[in-house]
Amino acid sequence: MALFDRLTKGVSEAADRAKFETDKALRVRRLNSEVDKLEGELGQATMATGKKAIELRPAGLEEWIEQVEKLDAQLAAKKEELEKARAEEYVEPESKAKFCPKCGTELPEGTKFCSSCGEKIS
Ligand SMILES: [Zn+2]
Repeated sequence: MALFDRLTKGVSEAADRAKFETDKALRVRRLNSEVDKLEGELGQATMATGKKAIELRPAGLEEWIEQVEKLDAQLAAKKEELEKARAEEYVEPESKAKFCPKCGTELPEGTKFCSSCGEKIS
């Protein structure tokens, strides 16, 4: 039964990891396209602001500049989020049960030697 439990656990951990990697890839792809979109919007807003700078009296510029600054801040925050998502690593679930690498006997936490075959447990 111990062997079956271990196999089942191994399979579910592999599934957890695969799910994590899939979710991460999706998140990174979504953030990437959001960053692209914001960069595009920022470029357009900057150009529009430049045009307005020529067309309008200086008093009219304020809200355009605010818009650019807002997009700039949004983009910086989104880029940071993207970098964080990129840097995420899979965290192995902590397992309290240990198994002898030689004979597979389940061992209590902190055991130094296998109670069954005497193998040194690291
Ligand atoms: Zn053993």
